[in-house]
Amino acid sequence: MNIKILKETQDKIIYYLSDTELPLVNAIRRLIIEEVPTMAIDEVTFVKNNSALYDEIIAHRLGLLPLTSDIKSYNFQEDCKCKGKGCARCQVKITLQTKGPCTVYASDLKSKDSKIKPVYPETPLTILLKGQDIQLEAVAKLGRGKQHSKFSPGLAYYRFFPSLKASRDSNIKKCAELSDNLEVKDSKLEIKDIAKWNEAQEQICEQNNVAVEYDKENFIFTLESWGQLDTKKIPSMALKIFEGKLKELDKQIK
Ligand SMILES: [Zn+2]
Repeated sequence: MNIKILKETQDKIIYYLSDTELPLVNAIRRLIIEEVPTMAIDEVTFVKNNSALYDEIIAHRLGLLPLTSDIKSYNFQEDCKCKGKGCARCQVKITLQTKGPCTVYASDLKSKDSKIKPVYPETPLTILLKGQDIQLEAVAKLGRGKQHSKFSPGLAYYRFFPSLKASRDSNIKKCAELSDNLEVKDSKLEIKDIAKWNEAQEQICEQNNVAVEYDKENFIFTLESWGQLDTKKIPSMALKIFEGKLKELDKQIK
């Protein structure tokens, strides 16, 4: 497999994967979504909540907050020396105590570990009116996307690499007019930026009799991080987990 980075921002990387196979690319996608661990709030104890939102809704909102995840310093609770009881090695206490009138933001949460905090502090949680207040204690733990999607480090998806085949009936000029990512070059229709290729452009091509053929060995692979982990490190963590699983399989077969 050859890997080339097509585009990179802080929270998104688009790769060009060539000379590979669909099952392998899909395995990497699933490992990223389901196996790479992150921290998330998993338990909430309410001391007081007379806001307009029920306890369950606030707890759900807290669970979905991406937290900066220092995963090397924490154990999975089930593998921890405390045997799942909960200790400083496998969980972090996060508290919230606010009084209305105000908008409660993720930045109002106070974490026992300064490394584990909301990635987006400006995320609103609820609005409190005069006389309303919230007091709660939450516990963040390490988990995997296969347990709950709140633990997923990001979104990963891929497309086959497209190539455009025009014929006599094709209206390539119209395609270029309708999409700013398509252009006519040497009387051929070409894709300007492969990282921006999408279904809308495919539809424009098909409606104007340009056939879109997909190469089944080359892929455009997109990874969008939710912010808990460094985007660049997510694929290498996924591959390390993959390696561990293959070694385990090998051992079982032997
Ligand atoms: Zn523990």
